[in-house]
Amino acid sequence: MAADALLDLFHDTLRDIYWAEKHLLKALPKLAKNAANPELGQALEDHRRETEGQVERLERVFAIIDKAARGKKCEAMVGLSAEADEVLEEVDDDMVRDAGIIGAAQAVEHYEIARYGTLKAWAKLLGEDEAADLLDQTLEEEKAADKKLTMLSDSINLEADESQEAA
Ligand code: ZN
Ligand code: FE
Ligand code: FE
Ligand code: FE
Repeated sequence: MAADALLDLFHDTLRDIYWAEKHLLKALPKLAKNAANPELGQALEDHRRETEGQVERLERVFAIIDKAARGKKCEAMVGLSAEADEVLEEVDDDMVRDAGIIGAAQAVEHYEIARYGTLKAWAKLLGEDEAADLLDQTLEEEKAADKKLTMLSDSINLEADESQEAA
């Protein structure tokens, strides 16, 4: 039945983002620790704390659809993380590395925004309004995290550019 197939897809995608969020609990501190700009480090730390709440929300969504909270490896997040690691390994200039960290973190936020937008739409279609509301709360947090990074990039990108000119 079509309704079951959509529920299955919803469930699999929920497992994907659950795995991705748990992965981020480990990946965000690494980015925060490597940020030279203290405001950037703090923003990444703050988002890590927010991510703990997002994991809990996802566990509530699993409970709503009566499924065990189990992740399923998200290949996209593995790739985005690998790209973030590349920035840390390959960029020597502090300011340029910060610009790279922001770029990598925004790629992650945009992936999450895509996932939560889709999951919220499917939850509504499935008549799971409470789940849709929980997913929307996280969607708004991801959008706010992305905006904060854009705000920080305004000055950090300029500093990165200037530090290149000085070199
Ligand atoms: Zn399934
Ligand atoms: Fe998240
Ligand atoms: Fe994924
Ligand atoms: Fe996020």
